[in-house]
Amino acid sequence: MPTYHYIAASDAHCSHCKAGFDVVQKMVDDALTSCPDCGHDIRRVISAPALTSQLTRDSNKTLSEKNIEKHGFTQYRKVGNGKYEKTAGKGPATIDREKL
Ligand SMILES: [Zn+2]
Repeated sequence: MPTYHYIAASDAHCSHCKAGFDVVQKMVDDALTSCPDCGHDIRRVISAPALTSQLTRDSNKTLSEKNIEKHGFTQYRKVGNGKYEKTAGKGPATIDREKL
């Protein structure tokens, strides 16, 4: 599944979305529209990390949870319809689309 990078869409933001964070989603999933931390608008950006994962042969190492966390990214894993569980980084432990 591709990793999407999200970043604050306006001046209203918290440190989490200002720095940007990554979410692993299916391509058919709707883009997130609000920050899981502060609820302000975020936008999805086509990111270098997504390109890197295609170009890097040893993607397991590059995208390991430790490495993601070390570089200040947050990763979520989809666990159900609209539900995501954090696997690395800062932020809430889970994201539930129905509670946003
Ligand atoms: Zn935020």
